[in-house]
Amino acid sequence: MPRPDVSKVLEKHAAERAKRLRPDGNDQYRPLAGDLAHMAEDPFTDRVEREPLRDHVTVAFIGGGFAGLMTGAYLKEAGVDDVRIVETGGDVGGTWYWNRYPGVQCDVASLIYLPLLEETGYVPTEWYAHGPEILEHCQRIAKQYGLYERALFHTRVTGLEWDEAAGRWTVRTDRGDAFTAQFVAWGLGNLSVPKLPGIPGIETFAGHAFHASRWDYAYTGDPAGGPLGGLRDRRVAVIGTGASAVQCVPHLATACGELFVFQRTPSVIEVRNNRPIDPEWFARIATPGWQQRWLDNYAANMTAAEQPAEDLVDDSWTALARRGRAAGEGPDPEQDGADGIGREVYADLEKMDEIHARVAATVRDPRTAELLKPWYHLPCKRLTFHDEYLAAFNVPTVHLVDTGGKGVERIAPSGVVVDGTEYPVDCIIYASGFEVGTDPIRRGGFDPVGRDGRRLSQAWADGLRTMHGLHVHGFPNAFLVQPFTGGMRFSNLAHNLAEAARTVAAVVGHAVRAGVDVVEVTREAQDAWMREVGVDAEWRSFLATCTPGYSNNEGTDLGAYSIWEEYLCADGLGYFRLLQQWRDAGDFAGLQRRHLGR
Ligand code: NDP
Repeated sequence: MPRPDVSKVLEKHAAERAKRLRPDGNDQYRPLAGDLAHMAEDPFTDRVEREPLRDHVTVAFIGGGFAGLMTGAYLKEAGVDDVRIVETGGDVGGTWYWNRYPGVQCDVASLIYLPLLEETGYVPTEWYAHGPEILEHCQRIAKQYGLYERALFHTRVTGLEWDEAAGRWTVRTDRGDAFTAQFVAWGLGNLSVPKLPGIPGIETFAGHAFHASRWDYAYTGDPAGGPLGGLRDRRVAVIGTGASAVQCVPHLATACGELFVFQRTPSVIEVRNNRPIDPEWFARIATPGWQQRWLDNYAANMTAAEQPAEDLVDDSWTALARRGRAAGEGPDPEQDGADGIGREVYADLEKMDEIHARVAATVRDPRTAELLKPWYHLPCKRLTFHDEYLAAFNVPTVHLVDTGGKGVERIAPSGVVVDGTEYPVDCIIYASGFEVGTDPIRRGGFDPVGRDGRRLSQAWADGLRTMHGLHVHGFPNAFLVQPFTGGMRFSNLAHNLAEAARTVAAVVGHAVRAGVDVVEVTREAQDAWMREVGVDAEWRSFLATCTPGYSNNEGTDLGAYSIWEEYLCADGLGYFRLLQQWRDAGDFAGLQRRHLGR
């Protein structure tokens, strides 16, 4: 491997990191609340008034995204019919309901990202499907499995209370509902609460402003993803250059009178290589069980210690995993170099050289190209994938305003200020991301009260504690459908949610069939699992050296709720197999079962 001038590059990384470090960490952001609360409103679906509910269901699922849809579908397959999804949005879809910005697209191959493809018989049209197709697929699942029948939309759960004597939960909502459910589960998403930068003056802006996850097509024009005619004569600012901005900027580039992209840290822009899925090719590969084979193969390629024999998805994600594996297998560089720097670091810097070369080859203005080059280790920030983003900066009406790592200085009534210069604009689009690393109970908006009146916030005072990421001691008949304290550190979250959903369906299906009233994980089983989960000290210390971002709580403190903090192991497939064996064994080890003798 040719050796880049590693020490110089690492010095540059440290200098760039230092520019971005700030003492307020996650507190630098502000919610879409107070005088900016209107920015959180649903621009897509009108709210329909209804009477509060006082009825009973077997399962209430909070969240109508992939987690709720898959859990609902598997519950129906397990014979549990009355499942009620409760969702803050106006329809199912979760992330794909809210994120409708132009160009929105999945970054994981459709064939392994879209749930229940085999069950619904749906064939995605593209290797990386666009948002509208994914939202439509969510609706397809809800229709096929009858999940619309009892669903409550534009409804926020405000309280969950366990009634030990009755063996059921009371679910309270902001619509005045107080219905009961034998079982509750929730999957609220990891990136579902939008945040705004706490830029001074943000509330004084007199023009139009919205968050990318609440795209205002009434203002920009054309919800179908066409030319965004409303922006033709407008000066538009995009604040942020993460995955959302990378996907919408190419569409804005040719639509706006002038576009100003305000950058604090450049993203890694990897190759997208999207293409249609050929139905004839698909018919050849789609033999029974194909989607599970693809899911397992991807998980193995991303996480197994040894390279699997084949790589079905074979994209930029798996290529990176292959590169990391090859670096790990090489001779110890300490044996042939005096710098003591690991071979993985060289591999990482080599990849970054490729990323930089792509910028230089695409962006015509050399100064802009320099500013678009990221200087940090690859895993520090979420990669992005696009084949038109960099070229958008060649459009004469598109301007990159780099903030030298400091962020926007101020918002004035008529524009955005950086380094004392005001850029007058008609519209500001905040592509500023979502809350990560904050207290998940506050984010969810309800603090369940479990057995003996104990709140989840008390049970988790020192961080998340679960068995398998799913069950919490003291919270009977309740399940989480989410990855933390589960077993995953790779890109296909949909796979993780599918395994969790299957497990919930297996437990609830068994309880209903066997007449079991209450299931609860024992403290011993939860403690034993938490000893296995552990915290990866090496990964943690790596993150501490990273440029600030949501992976490391903005570089200040990895905190109890840091996104990567707790996971079982890097071997995602191993975790999935463990869950499957646990389900198949049928004795639901670690769960205590009770009959109430009613
Ligand atoms: P991100 O958190 O990734 O990006 C927010 C952006 O806002 C960053 O560029 C950040 O800069 C910038 N920013 C924050 N504060 C300021 C400030 N004061 N001044 C200027 N810029 C500022 O949010 P996204 O919505 O882009 O993406 C969030 C996550 O959602 C992704 O990482 C991904 O996991 C997921 N996602 C997935 C997609 C997919 O799979 N297709 C598409 C879109 C999102 P800095 O980097 O310096 O903090």
